[in-house]
Parts: sequence; structure tokens; C-alpha cells
Amino acid sequence: MGRLVPATEMLKKALEGKYAIGHFNINNLEWTKAILTEAQELNTAVILGVSEGAGKYMCGFKTVTNMVECMMDELNITVPVALHLDHGTYEGCLKCIDAGFSSIMFDGSHFPIDENIEKTKELVRLAHEHGMSIEAEVGAIGGEEDGVVGKGECADPDECKRIADLGVDFLAAGIGNIHGVYPENWQGLSFDTLAAIKEKIGDLPLVLHGGTGIPEDMIKKAISLGVSKINVNTECQLAFAKATREYIEAGKDHEKKGFDPRKLLKPGTEAIMETVKTKCEMFGSIGSAAK
Ligand SMILES: [Zn+2]
Repeated sequence: MGRLVPATEMLKKALEGKYAIGHFNINNLEWTKAILTEAQELNTAVILGVSEGAGKYMCGFKTVTNMVECMMDELNITVPVALHLDHGTYEGCLKCIDAGFSSIMFDGSHFPIDENIEKTKELVRLAHEHGMSIEAEVGAIGGEEDGVVGKGECADPDECKRIADLGVDFLAAGIGNIHGVYPENWQGLSFDTLAAIKEKIGDLPLVLHGGTGIPEDMIKKAISLGVSKINVNTECQLAFAKATREYIEAGKDHEKKGFDPRKLLKPGTEAIMETVKTKCEMFGSIGSAAK
């Protein structure tokens, strides 16, 4: 047991190879099984993201670590897997360090920059002491992050440099991206901001949050400009809900033992696997674990 790895190495390789690793949020056993199985099938490293809300829902971070590690054993998962806290608070980061996660994100983007720096610095020290990787965030990413709604901001490249210099392993910077479904009047990603940040931070992998519904050409351009980790959450949720709805609307839960949860949740689980595949194709990570 315990083959979880920090995300540092896989993202370094992705940056060099000009592709991105998918970060997919998990919500329950089916979600986790679908993503692990598909990542193995595609021979790509993967990052399992857990928000604090999802951690609570799954009965705590320790439950999550144990579930993921046992599942990796049982399913013979050999591709690199990082278990990563998504948008963690300071306290949440401490809990995940304790619970055996292999990676954390401290989201101090809502603090004034000096406070964000102070807290990030402390968590970088703790994470590295425990052999974990750490992501920090500059410039709030819009949309809804566990109940907090914001507009898509563009991060200040100088502030990114200050946070990067603290020794974080990868950096989430707002470049007009938002969480959830993009509104009709969305302005698109700000590649000028991305290029300016890249110039300041050099070889540090960048993270693009809100990967649901960003057009493929923008994703590809972002990767070419240094994005090595792309977070996908809503898209798996929508795919799961759609497939489950279709199953029920077709009356399949009334046929034989179609109400059996293992049957009822199957189409949704397969839809998540399909989404992971589509995303990994787009991110260029398929087969990368073999290299
Ligand atoms: Zn995010």
C-alpha cells in the first residue's frame, strides 16, 4: 500500500513533453474507480482532486486516502497517482498532511498577498518535510469554489513570482478562467497574462483550473505556454448526471433488477471514464506514463 506519489515529477515531465496531466475531482467510490481505471487504461499519470467539501462527504480525508490506496492495490494501478487537496484552507492542508495525501493546494488567493505569502511559505515547509507537493494560487479563479462565487480574475505576474519563489511545486494563476460552466459572454483565456506570468516564473508548471468547456484550441495554446496541470470537475459531474438521467428516463431501473445500485450507477461511471479519455486526449497525456 501507499504508492501515491507527489505531483512534482509527473508535472515536470509534462512541462518538458508539452502536454498536461488531468486533475479530476473525486466524489465517491464510483468516481475514484472510474478515473483510476481509465488512467491505467490510457497509461497516463493522474491527479485525484479532493475538495474539502468532498472530503467531508466521503467521511474525512483519512477515509479517502485508504479508499484510494486500497483501490490502487486491488485494481493493480501502476501509473503514477497523486492524491491532491483541491482549494485547501490552511487547516484543511494540515489535515491532509496528517491523512497521508501526497499533494496539497493551499488557496490563499482571497487573502491580501502578504498574508497569502506568509501562509503559503509555512505550508511549503510542512508539505516538503512530508515529501508532498504543494500548489498555491494567485488571483482568484472565478465561478463557484465550494460556495464562494467570484469573477475570473487575471493574476498579477509580480505576485505570481513572489509566490513561486517560496518553493511551491506548481502554481494556479487566474487568467480569466472560471469554475463551472462558462457563460455565453465569456471573454476567453488571457494569453497575454499567461505569457507574462510564464516569463516571470520560468520553469514552474502552471495549473489551469476550470477546465470544463474551455475550447480545445485554447487548451492547446495554454499547454504550449506552460500549463501542465488542468483541473476538470464539472464536466465529469454533468456526464454522470446525464447518463444516469437517460438510464432512468428509459425506464431501465424498472427492467429486471435495474434498480440495483451497481446497475443504476454503471452508465454514469462509464460516462466519467469517457470524459477522462476525451480530456486526456485533448491534454496529450495518453501513453505518457510509459515514457
Ligand atoms: Zn479550482
